[in-house]
Amino acid sequence: MAQHPTNCEICARIQDIKQGAHSGFIAQLPTGFFVLGDSQQWHGYALLLCKTPVPDLEELPWQMRLDFLRDVALCSEAVANVVRPHKMNVESLGNAVPHLHFHLFPRYLTEVEPTKPVWVQTSPTEETALDAQSAGELLALLREEIERLQRERI
Ligand SMILES: [Zn+2]
Repeated sequence: MAQHPTNCEICARIQDIKQGAHSGFIAQLPTGFFVLGDSQQWHGYALLLCKTPVPDLEELPWQMRLDFLRDVALCSEAVANVVRPHKMNVESLGNAVPHLHFHLFPRYLTEVEPTKPVWVQTSPTEETALDAQSAGELLALLREEIERLQRERI
């Protein structure tokens, strides 16, 4: 089984969040940190980073696992409600960085290849990099929506 890495990129990003130094930080949920992706090639692409540094879902105690999946569902719904995509892709891979996280990709019919997974499409470019200033409104909308959903659903 994959091991959680010693120098973990996701643990480093969580440290940035705790120090107020992550420009894509949206909100803290009971089990994770909800952030915008570094690339906005898919407008509204976000992630939920698990607070507990394990490689896989199966390594979380059962109740924590359910709580984490609930938070994934809330974050996915928040993204969908804010950016109104054609489809949501909700994925957990972690092959490159084995620290449990979910990718929340809003998908659009205007994409070049809307039926294919994002991973086979072009690599992010500088043009699509998250810009903290222009993302301000999106961050505020997502923050508002995740807070509303947490009040409504929990
Ligand atoms: Zn980690």
